[in-house]
Amino acid sequence: METLQEVKTRVYKFGNKTADGNSQMKNLLGGKGANLAEMSLIGIPVPPGFTITTEVCTEYNLLGKDTVVEMIKPEVEKSIENIENIMGAKFGDKDNPLLVSVRSGARVSMPGMMDTVLNLGLNDEVVIGLAKKTNNERFAWDSYRRFVQMYGDVVLGMKPESKEDIDPFEEIMEHLKDKRGIELDTEFTIQDLKDLVYDFKDAVKKRTGHDFPSNPWDQLWGAVVAVFNSWNGDRAVYYRNMHGYPADWGTAVNVQAMVYGNMGENSGTGVCFTRDAGTGENIFNGEYLINAQGEDVVAGTRTPQQITKTGSLRWAELAKVEEEDRVTNYPSLEELMPSIYKELNEYQEKLEKHYSDMQDMEFTMQDGKLWILQTRNGKRTGAAMVKIAIDMLKEGLIDEKEALLRIEPNKLDELLHPIFDPKALKAANVIAQGLPASPGAATGKIVFFADEAAKYKNSILVRIETSPEDLEGMNIAKGILTARGGMTSHAAVVARGMGKCCVSGAGALKIDYKNRILKVDGHEYHEGDWISLNGSTGNIIEGKVATIEPELSGEFAEIMNLSDKYATMQVRTNADTPKDAKVARNFGAQGIGLTRTEHMFFEVDRIKAMREMILADTVKGRKEALKELLPMQREDFEGIFEAMEGLPVTVRLLDPPLHEFVPHQLATQKDLADEMHISLEAVKNKVSELEEFNPMLGHRGCRLGITYPEITEMQARAIIEAALNLKAKGIVAKPEIMIPLIGTLAEFESQEKIIRDTANTVFEEYNDTIEYLVGTMIEIPRAALTADLIAQKAEFFSFGTNDLTQMAFGYSRDDAGKFLPIYIEKGILKVDPFEVLDQEGVGQLVKMGTEKGRSTKKELKVGICGEHGGEPSSVEFCYKTGMNYVSCSPFRVPIARIASAQAAIKSEK
Ligand code: ADP
Ligand code: MG
Ligand code: MG
Repeated sequence: METLQEVKTRVYKFGNKTADGNSQMKNLLGGKGANLAEMSLIGIPVPPGFTITTEVCTEYNLLGKDTVVEMIKPEVEKSIENIENIMGAKFGDKDNPLLVSVRSGARVSMPGMMDTVLNLGLNDEVVIGLAKKTNNERFAWDSYRRFVQMYGDVVLGMKPESKEDIDPFEEIMEHLKDKRGIELDTEFTIQDLKDLVYDFKDAVKKRTGHDFPSNPWDQLWGAVVAVFNSWNGDRAVYYRNMHGYPADWGTAVNVQAMVYGNMGENSGTGVCFTRDAGTGENIFNGEYLINAQGEDVVAGTRTPQQITKTGSLRWAELAKVEEEDRVTNYPSLEELMPSIYKELNEYQEKLEKHYSDMQDMEFTMQDGKLWILQTRNGKRTGAAMVKIAIDMLKEGLIDEKEALLRIEPNKLDELLHPIFDPKALKAANVIAQGLPASPGAATGKIVFFADEAAKYKNSILVRIETSPEDLEGMNIAKGILTARGGMTSHAAVVARGMGKCCVSGAGALKIDYKNRILKVDGHEYHEGDWISLNGSTGNIIEGKVATIEPELSGEFAEIMNLSDKYATMQVRTNADTPKDAKVARNFGAQGIGLTRTEHMFFEVDRIKAMREMILADTVKGRKEALKELLPMQREDFEGIFEAMEGLPVTVRLLDPPLHEFVPHQLATQKDLADEMHISLEAVKNKVSELEEFNPMLGHRGCRLGITYPEITEMQARAIIEAALNLKAKGIVAKPEIMIPLIGTLAEFESQEKIIRDTANTVFEEYNDTIEYLVGTMIEIPRAALTADLIAQKAEFFSFGTNDLTQMAFGYSRDDAGKFLPIYIEKGILKVDPFEVLDQEGVGQLVKMGTEKGRSTKKELKVGICGEHGGEPSSVEFCYKTGMNYVSCSPFRVPIARIASAQAAIKSEK
């Protein structure tokens, strides 16, 4: 019986200018596999190989090892044969052996995945054959040593036992180096390498109880399964959760013929970028090492050399290397191997054009022949993302819409963070310099271990080098500093991806993990000491350095202007002060979507009047207290209206439960009693009277204005008077008065009447008028359900999705912290619905509310003012719902503007 399952292709071949797959098949082949196929198709020299699909990973998780191996065995055997034919060598053969690498590769590049195993297929007999075939015994044993080490580490779990320990294999190597009085791996003799292989194998046997597998096929299946398992490893799961990648994506496995960068002085390996991943400059750059393999360049054990001469000169200046030393010991590839450099340069140009995006590539030179091992769209900082998009637009590589779609809105956040104050920098004490691996300004306390990054609110992770295990801590730390490794080291690449400040390869640092001490130039710094990093210059600075706010300028301003050309949905801001309003306006806010008036009552001189109002027993007493508040409120509104001159400003009437305003401490209660000439008892009674079991569902929102109409009256008066006062000065104010927490039309009508009556009275007093709107928040499910009725009177709706989420889910926002993290961990919720709008549920209320509202009033203005207004996927939803605007905090305005433009562009497609 033949089922569908059995006929589907599970293994895709590539190499020799052909391929079964292509770059469009990332979901099935993983990013690495799809691009290897594509490169093969367009004539770039890639070693032949094959990709086991991501679907097989999912099948493996369901069916287990034996079934899956049985299922794909025939295809894998055929594909190995294909490699053998192209390479003219045989897998497992003693005289003419083929070796392969086994590489993981998910849809998107994931630093948490399994490390690669190189030189697979070697054993005690094959190594002798390899030595004979290549006439290079040293190379053969170096490869074998590397293989046993990598396989032991990633497949057999030979990891350090505790974090202060070093790697068990490194320990054996260090021991031998000490004994032999040498420093570098390249100084090992052939006999040393042989000894290492046997010592490694002994260590494996001791730790795991099993012999190291000598059969190449056993080795191959072991590695394939290890790749599948790594998809569910801690690191990968953490990374997946961080980015919201679902578990059922799975990873592909790539098996590929080895090419050898460790064959001698005419061989080597490197990584390169078609543009600068830190700044975005259009400069080809990268690093390489002679006589090296795989991750040697990124591991940071040897100092990598620069690919271009320009890059090499720049590096030498930073690393304080004299020109003579540079030319003899660290020449660029351009200088050392001009013809290989020329070929590499052609490929990088070709690949960038082909993908029309910045590429991050890996290559290896085997005995003078160049091979490309990987290409992918390079990770980059927020600044580089913006610059590359604008540059490529100007170069005609991409069009305007594509340039906008290249922006990951949340990554703009990096450009909105503070930078070091140039004045403070002048006075700073620079204690050392490393490479400017990822730009930014970071100040924090030293920690030496990734799992201790959370120890301080602001920490700087200081490491000799980082590894994928450190991912979580790197994410928490404010900045990353390493003593080893270049611009393409693990720390540098990951930091740029996270948009985190990083200084790498600061050779002057001596790091003592055991005693938790950082030594520089005779000075000692301990855990908890403050240091600062300048990721743009590589400077390491003692202590704290002051920062200033960034500006929207250059390419950043260009991309934002471009977004206005395509965005149809506007972006407003949530701002309670003229200062916030100005910041948002500079970032391009087109109005205020939410001003919370209660924030104005908490200031010292005001809270007193507010409390007097709350404590008053009579309407008369309340009105007197409110009279004191009126001029203060009016002044606030004047400031905000003026800052937003000509743009609409939505002012929400008093919203929180009164209980939040009264004093809860005895001393303050006493003061209040004295001042109001009432007894302490009276104050205490009032406070307990106001206490509620469920304040979020209690006496708040329009319920306050209904029970105390004089509050609404005062606020309406302050708003209208402020607008009229500005009008007298020639400043246009456009207030939109918003009534909170409406659930019924009658509630709205009662408040609207007070507002309109007050406005008319003020108009008469001033003998002048202004335009204003009266609308409501839709934040109670009942309001969404009866939106058609409410729209009979309301002139605008603004979805308050914080409360709407709270009430739709029945999650108290103040208590959800106790269970939401567990919900997310268990997969009951994918994301926190207070961060990302729940389109499936709460979204229905938003949609229905909008549709019903507009069925009554076709032109009804609709917006959103919850936290979701600045979250890209929620912004897209708002666009689809047909909202007129989203409103978000000032620093998210640029993010929402881009998201709004992207939503419009995507809907055209
Ligand atoms: P990662 O996803 O961590 O980058 P890779 O699979 O790309 O892992 O491999 C790690 C290193 O091994 C890279 O430097 C890569 O170029 C090198 N490598 C992988 N396969 C081969 C091969 N067949 N021949 C030579 N080097 C290889
Ligand atoms: Mg790796
Ligand atoms: Mg790679």
